[in-house]
Amino acid sequence: MAYQYDDQNIFAKILRGEIPNDTVLETDHCLAFRDIAPQAPDHVLIIPKGAYVNFDHFANNASDVEILDWVRTIGKVCTMLGVCPDDADGYRLIANSGKHGVQDVPHLHAHILAGRMLGRMLP
Ligand code: IMP
Repeated sequence: MAYQYDDQNIFAKILRGEIPNDTVLETDHCLAFRDIAPQAPDHVLIIPKGAYVNFDHFANNASDVEILDWVRTIGKVCTMLGVCPDDADGYRLIANSGKHGVQDVPHLHAHILAGRMLGRMLP
């Protein structure tokens, strides 16, 4: 399976500094920023800096260092938002992939949604 990365996608432009973003956290390998059209009071996107189209592209090709940094960054953002369910109301973590996953931006991103009661995703 060959992955075609479009370097004109909006998150690639954000990473190159061509488009502004509301940064929450930046690490060596990741950028976390607020979604421009938030679906919850807290809606943050966490992207790897590498050119990965979606989750399986990343999981099957990224280095261990990149994968660890992305996962840790997601955890740090949860902590920064104060949404960790041990002492707060929790959150939803999503990574849409491809057509059936309704992925609009073809650069891997995790969504963290928090701050309101979300609808059930599965019956
Ligand atoms: P997807 O459907 O999982 O690909 O979600 C893409 C997300 O990117 C949507 O929630 C959009 O609101 C968000 N988005 C698109 N452009 C920007 C931007 O320039 N800054 C921040 N978020 C964006």
